[in-house]
Amino acid sequence: MEQVWKRSLVALKQRIETADFDALISRLYPLAQRDRNLLFEAPSKLAIDLINQRYLTTIEEVLSAEMARPVRVILQPRKLTQQELFPLPPRPEEPPGPPATRRSSSLLPKYTFSNFVVGASNQFAHAASKAVASQPGVHYNPFFIYGGVGLGKTHLVNAIGHEICDRNSNARVVYLSSESFMNELISALRRDRMDEFKGRFRKVDVLILDDVQFLAGRERTQEEFFHTFNSLYESHRQIVLTSDKFPKEIPDLEERLRNRFEWGLIADIQPPDVETRVAILEKKAEDEHIELPSDVAMFLASNINSNVRELEGSLTRLGAFASLNKCAITVDFAREVLHSILREKDRVVTIESIQKAICEFFNLRPSELRSKKRTKNIALPRQVAMYLCRRHTGASFPVIGDRFGGRDHSTVIHAANAVERRMREDVTFRTTVERIERMIENVP
Ligand code: ADP
Ligand code: MG
Repeated sequence: MEQVWKRSLVALKQRIETADFDALISRLYPLAQRDRNLLFEAPSKLAIDLINQRYLTTIEEVLSAEMARPVRVILQPRKLTQQELFPLPPRPEEPPGPPATRRSSSLLPKYTFSNFVVGASNQFAHAASKAVASQPGVHYNPFFIYGGVGLGKTHLVNAIGHEICDRNSNARVVYLSSESFMNELISALRRDRMDEFKGRFRKVDVLILDDVQFLAGRERTQEEFFHTFNSLYESHRQIVLTSDKFPKEIPDLEERLRNRFEWGLIADIQPPDVETRVAILEKKAEDEHIELPSDVAMFLASNINSNVRELEGSLTRLGAFASLNKCAITVDFAREVLHSILREKDRVVTIESIQKAICEFFNLRPSELRSKKRTKNIALPRQVAMYLCRRHTGASFPVIGDRFGGRDHSTVIHAANAVERRMREDVTFRTTVERIERMIENVP
């Protein structure tokens, strides 16, 4: 059919005005032939309308003559690629950078959507990440993922970056941790290269900033990020952020930044349930060519429930031991190799470990928890800590009071009741407390 069309074009060129021929006819593309119907792809709906009005009969005549039988021409618009459907906004300001720096080398190569296991605990964050990757800068800006350590935040946001680059090889995607952002800022300040710094971040299409809780208390970095944020946001560039805390829970974060973090979509990742843990293990085992029987996968998944990173670590360890010893992986073997990891799990929760977890979470010093200070940013964490001590240690109210700077037992009772009440009424608060409860298991 392509040959026939080529010959027809020669004839059509003589019968159709050059401008129209170039704009409309020469851009038709033969797709298929069914009986007497010939299907063509046209560049746009507008082109189809114009051709139907002015030239359809001519085209049909020429083609019929060429094929020596009557034909009918049917036009359909060209299917747009994702990139054409959702173009990134044009960037008029600056010339394109050298191609080598375009495909972002800052993304971590091993984290893609294809090796991310979806379960109930991360389904929402995953779906939202997919949506962001397919239409960056359009719907969810900024996109904020929060969740505990080792639950897949870094993995997901890198997957977003990779997918955006796959869909549009011109997209400029920059991934970096908040710590690197700060270090680059410091270095730019020191070398008097602030313009360069500003330029680097303000001309990207997608900025992925990992672990923004790190910005807590770093005023200069927050200030600079605030301007970067505004500049990107205003030009509809996608901003992706992660944190181990909900924006409201990040201490010492300027209100204006906190506020912006809540402008778009916030998605959380919860610790995976046991089925998802098994699925993750099996996927990793497959990727790393480790022979993992399903009873061992189940054994690991039910015994390691804190985070995915630990789960992975134990698998890698098992794989290495098995290959060194040239033996198969069995439940007994796993129990032996992972002896120390598994035993830590039975650790008793103490008042100290709770205080430590609370301090880590709220960015306080243990001495502040035990102090007489009653400012809100200390009083509430202290109450939560008391509540958790009551729930998770065998300690009595007077003992707990004593360990929190010699407070009266009635204060502890009051705190425990207040926290319980608020947990019933306030979902966000309850989620926070539950998250701290999970942290307690991990504090050495
Ligand atoms: P975070 O940034 O939340 O601390 P990471 O993204 O670094 O966590 O994840 C820790 C490890 O666990 C990574 O190696 C990651 O690939 C893996 N991981 C986490 N969640 C999943 C998942 N759902 N599917 C596959 N691997 C996962
Ligand atoms: Mg991370």
